[in-house]
Amino acid sequence: MYDNHNRMINYLRVSVTDRCNLRCIYCMPKEGLSLLGHADILSYEEILRIVTIAVKTGIVKVRLTGGEPLVRRGLVEFVSSLNKIEGLKDITLTTNGILLENYAEPLFQAGIRRINVSLDSLNVEKYKSITRLGDLLSVIRGIKKAECVGFSPIKINVVAIKGFNDDEILDFAKLTVHKPYQVRFIEYMPIGDVASENGFEYLSNDIVKKIINNYSTLERTDGYRGKADGPAQVYRMKGAVGEIGLISSMSHQFCNSCNRLRLTADGHLRACLLSDDEVDLKSMLRSGCSNSDLESLIKKVILDKPKIAALHCYESQRKKCVRNMSVIGG
Ligand code: SAM
Ligand code: SF4
Repeated sequence: MYDNHNRMINYLRVSVTDRCNLRCIYCMPKEGLSLLGHADILSYEEILRIVTIAVKTGIVKVRLTGGEPLVRRGLVEFVSSLNKIEGLKDITLTTNGILLENYAEPLFQAGIRRINVSLDSLNVEKYKSITRLGDLLSVIRGIKKAECVGFSPIKINVVAIKGFNDDEILDFAKLTVHKPYQVRFIEYMPIGDVASENGFEYLSNDIVKKIINNYSTLERTDGYRGKADGPAQVYRMKGAVGEIGLISSMSHQFCNSCNRLRLTADGHLRACLLSDDEVDLKSMLRSGCSNSDLESLIKKVILDKPKIAALHCYESQRKKCVRNMSVIGG
């Protein structure tokens, strides 16, 4: 279905939990966040009902995210049920990769074929310091296992932060020379409670591109196997097997091609990552709404999707994004 700004909305990101086995410094405070209780998050049955209705409005792709989706019990069975929804063409997952070695095979069997793994440093110590709890080697084993099992493409999400991992841009880019990965550099966005405290500055992807270009000429591709690739601008280093994606949410505005909605872990439907305007689907479901009520509300959220993300609005119209990334799902 098209929104009021003539954008086709066909992609839903679902945060299945706000819990996580890591505490990345740009996403969560050290002590974690005040976590939602079991009853506060949507049950799998509720998510299945929402997705089934959303498919009727034109959603064809769902990405499972979190928090860390692999820490929620029953995820594999849930994916199998999701996979049975008629009209849903693509189910993908974003994970920090810590538990991926054990989950890659069952997830593939359940119907997921494409996966994104977040990895912000290739240095064991630095990885530990950015995630506070993480073991880099588990993630590497997870990525290898995913490759072995047949996931394709495997995308590696790198949040680039000035003064933290800007010295690793080339190391990440070089991964694509022999491996069929798409390494995606994502500009850090100031979202949630931690944003005001950490003082991080995003590294512009214009700089990332320059650094890689100085090493090896980047050629523009149309995305993985010729398919357009959402907000990422996709390139390939000369002779490389894999690709480089640049997601420049801060330095370049790509709202005019945004095709997504987000379902938060606590059941709110959100039309824009960077705007806290949400509709509470969970309360509606739990007060016994009909499927057609639900469908009408989803359609309304699509129609009313803001033209431009709040972060890109003039200062006077700008609203702070207070919800945390782990609830929204990135
Ligand atoms: N836990 C999973 C993971 O880390 O892949 C899934 C959830 S995480 C919120 C989804 C994505 O959002 C990750 O790639 C993460 O690096 C990214 N992310 C989190 N906070 C961010 C921020 N402030 N700016 C940009 N990306 C962010
Ligand atoms: Fe957890 Fe992902 Fe946030 Fe890191 S980015 S704390 S792995 S939810």
